[in-house]
Amino acid sequence: MTAPDPRRPALPTFAPGSVWLTGAGPGDPGLLTLHALNGLDQADVIVHDALVAPEILALANPSARLEAAGKRGGRPSPTQDTISARLIQLAAQGMKVLRLKGGDPFVFGRGAEEGAALTAAGIPWRVIPGITAGLGGLAAAGIPATARETNRAIILATGHPAAGSDPGPDWAELAATGLPIVLYMAMTGLADITAGLMAGGLSPDTPVAFVADATTPAQRLLVTRLADAVTDATAAGIRAPAIVAIGGIVALRAVLAPTLRALSSPLDLEVTP
Ligand code: SAH
Repeated sequence: MTAPDPRRPALPTFAPGSVWLTGAGPGDPGLLTLHALNGLDQADVIVHDALVAPEILALANPSARLEAAGKRGGRPSPTQDTISARLIQLAAQGMKVLRLKGGDPFVFGRGAEEGAALTAAGIPWRVIPGITAGLGGLAAAGIPATARETNRAIILATGHPAAGSDPGPDWAELAATGLPIVLYMAMTGLADITAGLMAGGLSPDTPVAFVADATTPAQRLLVTRLADAVTDATAAGIRAPAIVAIGGIVALRAVLAPTLRALSSPLDLEVTP
């Protein structure tokens, strides 16, 4: 046992037979929390999503076993029930189970479903919040989520309806608020989304930013306007995972950009189609 570092907060011990539902942040390992790092240090098994960067998995203690439980559009992936059942099974075997998810587990991460399943099974669990891509990814690209001159509220929305009969967001209703909209999982439905927002009254000139692979060395930023968003994103090859920000906050970036540098990489931030 090494002595505790007096400069670091005392962090919890991982109890065998429990699950830590943990946010890994948007990608840059520097955006992990100390709680997440503490979990990576102690876990027996790490059940991680496809979105969790390899640089983050590399921080796990060397004896931890890694299990991919990725859900990623298009590819076959285990169902949510299978993942929850696996977490319960591993915990019931007495393991320290780190369930590692991109961003924050409770923001479009189905963390609530996993937490409910663990609770129903009588498994003790913790949730470790993470920096969500829709806020941290934007900030890393120089786009503030709120600023006094533009907005007092912001909408975080999914662009992808849940399975079954879920119609997804009502774009006209969101447009009518006049608030900036930050979209997750919006690349597949982008044409319908932008058309729906304009039909709902948003100006075709509304600024739009795409931040793909935010806070990773592959980060790409595209700034355009609502009417050109689909064409420009296609031309620039913007692909998931990407955050789409729509509204006046995007225009603030031009003011901030001249001396703004990328968080961890020396790459230029912006791409043009
Ligand atoms: N729980 C996650 C969101 C999972 S949903 C969070 O809080 O961030 C998956 C969506 O998140 C992706 O389709 C994309 O819209 C967004 N996303 C996650 N990581 C991202 C990243 N590094 N860059 C851009 N978007 C990201």
